[in-house]
Amino acid sequence: MLPFKLVYHPRYDLNLGAHVFPSQKFRMIYETLLREKIAAPEDFLEPPPASDDDVLRVHTSEYIEKLKGGTLSPSELMRLEIPWSPEMVQACWLAAGGSILAGRSALRDGFAANIGGGFHHAHPGHGEGFCAIHDVAIAIRRLQRDGAIATAMVVDTDVHQGNGTAAIFRNDSSVFTLSIHQEDNYPMPKPPSDIDINLPDGIEDDEYLAILEAHLLKALEFITPDVMFYVGGADPYCEDQLGGLNLTKAGLRRRDTMVMDHAHRRGIPVAITLAGGYARRVEDTVQIHVGTILAARDLAQRTAARSTQ
Ligand SMILES: [Zn+2]
Repeated sequence: MLPFKLVYHPRYDLNLGAHVFPSQKFRMIYETLLREKIAAPEDFLEPPPASDDDVLRVHTSEYIEKLKGGTLSPSELMRLEIPWSPEMVQACWLAAGGSILAGRSALRDGFAANIGGGFHHAHPGHGEGFCAIHDVAIAIRRLQRDGAIATAMVVDTDVHQGNGTAAIFRNDSSVFTLSIHQEDNYPMPKPPSDIDINLPDGIEDDEYLAILEAHLLKALEFITPDVMFYVGGADPYCEDQLGGLNLTKAGLRRRDTMVMDHAHRRGIPVAITLAGGYARRVEDTVQIHVGTILAARDLAQRTAARSTQ
């Protein structure tokens, strides 16, 4: 049904119980895509977990040992802001495997989406802000090791700056990082991305889109990467509990279309991952993430229609 693959595993749920991070959203997005006949069961790929070798290309062995063994200190757990459980660890390894698979699928089909991941706050030696390991960095490092890509760009539209991404790729000219986020929000401080767009509180659709497009064009003048990882946050939404921007659902959909269109028309494959989304109604968060998939579908179908004319 879809011209590209979606990557999902039923164990993506981080098993958080009552928590501001609605990790049941992964399942809800999966179910919505099927129920609304946007995708068919055969459009989905189930990822294997990332291998520890994959994870260790990004993270320190000391941290990974503690994370897997459940021996993080109370202060490390406080910084992570989610409770430890074997299910949480398994979900993170699956999300990283999912982003690797989405990257590979995007290289083949032009687009792919991991219905999970986008854990952009994870650092080499610690987790924070609901992010234990950095699935997108793990995927980029694996694709580079396989010789499938040399360069990558990470475009991060979550309302919170992609500090883990910035820290991991800070001295790496093969990976270009762009983050657009609310300046007066977590994380503090913000390690520098290649491009950081610090937005004032309350910015609305048109202004946001104009600023993002101008910076994205600058980035794409600088580098034409072998793949773009698009971290499509749902939390710039006006009703978000952890965000202070004022975007509408329609504006977020225009954002997704604009970013992916600029990549697609340059022949850059786009691998989508989700990221934050803390709308008062979880259904809104689900709808915004589904909108990102629809934006990719419409772009892919438009190209297909053109090539058969
Ligand atoms: Zn966020």
